[in-house]
Amino acid sequence: MPYEFQTIIEPFRIHSVEPLRLTSPEQRHAAMAEAGFNLFNLRADDVLIDLLTDSGTGAMSRDQWAAIQHGDESYAGSPSWFRFEAAVKDLFPFRHVIPTHQGRAAEKILFTAIGGPGRVVPSNTHFDTTRANVEASGAEAVDLVIAEGLDPRSLHPFKGNMDLEALDRLLRERGADVPVVMVTVTNNSGGGQPVSLANLRAVSALCHSYGVPLFLDACRFAENAWFIHEREEGQSERDVADIVRDMARLADGMTMSAKKDPFGNIGGWLALNDDGLAERCRNLLILTEGFPTYGGLAGRDLEALAQGLSEAVSHDYLRYRIRSTTYLGEALDRAGVPVVLPIGGHAVYLDARALLPHVEPLTYPGQALAVALYEAGGVRSVEIGTVMFGRHPDGSEHPAPLELVRLAIPRRTYTQSHIDYVIEVVTAVARDADRLGGYRMVYEPPALRHFTARFEPLD
Ligand SMILES: *Cc1c(COP(=O)(O)O)cnc(C)c1O
Repeated sequence: MPYEFQTIIEPFRIHSVEPLRLTSPEQRHAAMAEAGFNLFNLRADDVLIDLLTDSGTGAMSRDQWAAIQHGDESYAGSPSWFRFEAAVKDLFPFRHVIPTHQGRAAEKILFTAIGGPGRVVPSNTHFDTTRANVEASGAEAVDLVIAEGLDPRSLHPFKGNMDLEALDRLLRERGADVPVVMVTVTNNSGGGQPVSLANLRAVSALCHSYGVPLFLDACRFAENAWFIHEREEGQSERDVADIVRDMARLADGMTMSAKKDPFGNIGGWLALNDDGLAERCRNLLILTEGFPTYGGLAGRDLEALAQGLSEAVSHDYLRYRIRSTTYLGEALDRAGVPVVLPIGGHAVYLDARALLPHVEPLTYPGQALAVALYEAGGVRSVEIGTVMFGRHPDGSEHPAPLELVRLAIPRRTYTQSHIDYVIEVVTAVARDADRLGGYRMVYEPPALRHFTARFEPLD
């Protein structure tokens, strides 16, 4: 019998290092005050472990850096473009691939082409840029995730699934107004939770019975496919790349941020089968992003992404990726820190409402916790609660449904000892959570206020 070992092995070793700067609690308090107690306003040099986002912050591989040297910067028809297009089509066999500088550019083009007043776009849960681009076109964005997806303690294995009954009802009542149905894999705004192949199949059949196309917001397609491999019946012997192809074949197109699973520091694309729609999208692309064989990207970026796509579906990598995120979440859960369960793919979400019940929602418990994690240990997280979602278009302010703090894990960037340190910091802050007080917002911009708001501690 072979031995079974429990240690999570990072399936890489370190080839080039970046220094981290250690700071004192006094320095961090001063930096936080200077930043108006908003973690987006910090200088990254003042952060020790940066878990603000997993977007564009991953480590590229030796082979990606080597691929960059093959970058061909021809304006049109570069060989780097053809390598990129082939790598995308190998996993996502759509007829047309349209490169963009990042995911929201693909969304902007798609919804400019098919959105507009009177239209309604359902999703399991729209990511914030997706919702913003749907709404900017004048259309309405509707979230139809299953009920378990809204319950932080539910252990459903596919909490990103679409509510099929709700989707059927919407398509029956307003099908003619629905230009596309979106499914976000994994469901980022819903805790990084996966969508099952069975649910995607049912959504696809439903959409097509109403003649409505289905698009994937596929930023974390590989993490989603790994969860299918691990949790869905009959999938555990399959190659993850084949599961990804199955997901793609159920859809008619996709939007993509290559700053997530494909290991890019920048990049994205829009892919689809409809020839007429593809032509309209390419015409919009030329207006703002660039020629259709480079979009908003340099040839070297296209090369790095083509290589990154082949690494994203490696079983050794995905096993490590999902296990290491789970390792952080389960250690916090065992220590009694309230977290969203089951642990998602790219991030661990702390439940600030449960941890700081004495802090009123409109004095921002999530912000209080995020500031405390930074001041205590130099760990940068992001509030996903009333600061982010509390202000409404009519000017009123209401508590968000959940007060979360997200610890997003950059890909291949931190080691297990970094994560052990994060566990210590979060556990220590949680133990003294009753000492934390709320904040008052002293400046906020008219939209997306969380990025630039400034705060003062209440006494
Ligand atoms: C990051 C993200 C986007 C937007 O991509 P950008 O590259 O940041 O513009 C869209 N959808 C989801 C689910 C994302 O995580």
